[in-house]
Amino acid sequence: MLIPLRDAQDHVLERVAALAPATVALADTRGLVLAQAVTAGEAVPPFANSAMDGYAVVAADTTGASADAPVTLPVVAEVAAGHPAPRPLAPGEAMRIFTGAPMPDGADAVVIVEHTDRLDGDAVAIHAAAGAGDHIRAAGDDVRPGDVVLQGGELLGPGHLGVLATIGVTEVSVHRRPCVGVLSTGDELVAGGGPLQPGQIRESNGRTLLALLAEDGFEPVDLGVVADDDAAITAAIEGAASRCDAVLTSGGVSMGDIDLVRVVLDRIGDMRWMQIAIRPAKPFAFGLVGQGVPVFGLPGNPVSSMVSYELLARPALRRMAGHPRLRWHRPAVAAVAVEPLARRPDGKLHLARVVGERRPDGTLEVRSAGGQGSHHLTAMARADGLALVPDGDGLAAGDAVRVLLRAEV
Ligand code: AMP
Ligand code: MG
Repeated sequence: MLIPLRDAQDHVLERVAALAPATVALADTRGLVLAQAVTAGEAVPPFANSAMDGYAVVAADTTGASADAPVTLPVVAEVAAGHPAPRPLAPGEAMRIFTGAPMPDGADAVVIVEHTDRLDGDAVAIHAAAGAGDHIRAAGDDVRPGDVVLQGGELLGPGHLGVLATIGVTEVSVHRRPCVGVLSTGDELVAGGGPLQPGQIRESNGRTLLALLAEDGFEPVDLGVVADDDAAITAAIEGAASRCDAVLTSGGVSMGDIDLVRVVLDRIGDMRWMQIAIRPAKPFAFGLVGQGVPVFGLPGNPVSSMVSYELLARPALRRMAGHPRLRWHRPAVAAVAVEPLARRPDGKLHLARVVGERRPDGTLEVRSAGGQGSHHLTAMARADGLALVPDGDGLAAGDAVRVLLRAEV
């Protein structure tokens, strides 16, 4: 019996868990998920400072200043970033100040340089009245000590690393990147160049899956090709499970007698073999091997293995990487089919390979990326995403469709 995609996804997701947190140097945390909230131990900015180049003043001294009636003040010092003022500012005085310089004690405003004229004899003419607090970045204006600046589950990107640096954090508790072994199975497979003997084909799933893993922020491990041999597949999967956090296999999960990944996983892996109501990527096997290491038995057809990875392995690996529930699945975005996406009723959700284009108004238009067979890898490679074409007679031009977009369109 065919099982709905969501049931298959839930089955897998329920059996994996986030990897244990580890402490990692801040410089190495980009792309990792925070394991716990981070609380600031210091203020940002740490002291009141000038947001602009200009003159630090007492605002009240500039009352009524205008282009016609400037206020003239003596300039008693210069304050640059990294160099606090030599003494407090007294009423009736100005100090030249630069962006990021600490506000001198006694000053309560900055007049921007555009509103001033420097006069001979160390004085400045001010053409605009300042209000208290003008162009000052108060201490703690962005972050106060005790503020929770980042939450557990946040994916650390460039800005997050900057935030952590501003509060002096040098080590962070994050979830490790899952290390994922990739094993291709099949007597017919030849890796790399060289001549092909009759019946042989070139191995491609391994290349693709390793690249997908890297692109998704996981740590790929190339485990090569193994023949359609029970003992060899058993040894390869057990070996993989002893050194990786998860294993992807491709091939050998269909109905045939030589579909030995299914047979082996059934024996060693508390496996669930599924026929999922999707096309491509109907057959799928999932088991836990060794110390509960998830093994994803992806189908062998090149397009199917990519689709199966996208729908079943990627969400689970994201869970292992610490992403929160709402981030496990790729969001399906709204689009319009600009040409028919034909299909026949077969009880399955079809995942059509499509290319997308944005209209000026932001609407996403999609059309077929080419051949829709599970061996048509060129169309899959060209595709910007997978259109979710529900069971039925397909979509007409102009119909709304939801798309799992993997490229920026
Ligand atoms: P299987 O699921 O093992 O029956 O394989 C289904 C189809 O995918 C067959 O045509 C295989 O030759 C092909 N195939 C399986 N594994 C790979 C691979 N790693 N690279 C390219 N094609 C493959
Ligand atoms: Mg095979």
